[in-house]
Amino acid sequence: MKFLFSDYALGAGVATDLVNTSALVRRSTGEMLVDPAALDRFLVEFEVPVDPPEPGRRATEQDLEQVLALRGELRALLESDSEDQVVAGANALVGRASVGPFLERDVDGRWQWYVTTDPRAPLAQQLAAVIGTGLLGVLRTLRHDRIRHCASPVCDGMFVDTSKAGRRRYCMPELCGNRLNVAKHRARRLTPPKPNGTTEDGGTGRGAAGPAGPPEDPDAPDLRG
Ligand SMILES: [Zn+2]
Repeated sequence: MKFLFSDYALGAGVATDLVNTSALVRRSTGEMLVDPAALDRFLVEFEVPVDPPEPGRRATEQDLEQVLALRGELRALLESDSEDQVVAGANALVGRASVGPFLERDVDGRWQWYVTTDPRAPLAQQLAAVIGTGLLGVLRTLRHDRIRHCASPVCDGMFVDTSKAGRRRYCMPELCGNRLNVAKHRARRLTPPKPNGTTEDGGTGRGAAGPAGPPEDPDAPDLRG
């Protein structure tokens, strides 16, 4: 696998996608990586650019075991309060399979730093290299506080926010953000109207600016820009 050393959004995205495959996060649907075929589907679905050692090769039980171990390691790194510890851990991940960086022209003829992974490296080591590179880039270019817990009170997910504004709140915005909005909407519908005629607007709850925060969810679904 070959990727741009400066493209930290790639590895940060893979880190987020991988850490949120666990049953701890996917409470309703359960563990996502249940068998090697599910690991293959994950790599395709989330467009993780790993090399198969030979064309058509599928993930094995051993690959799965190693990727699940990597996921546990990654979760601990993301949860760490110590920026230095995250850097040390990410440096170690990068070292597992990467070769380079080396300089090469991109498609537009500009010189770019690239990292490659040993083509014979196991899947989990390739993932480690791209994830480690992503985390280091985020810490170097953005800040440690871009690694966050999902804002949904019913979700244990984590994510690395590489958005421009840095205001991402959910691990899976389309899921966790909606789930929260549905819960808020339900809570508003269940709240009995005030007896003294104070008008609460019908059901949308958009009227009063209260401590509930902004009604519109600022999360942009774009995660990798
Ligand atoms: Zn979440």
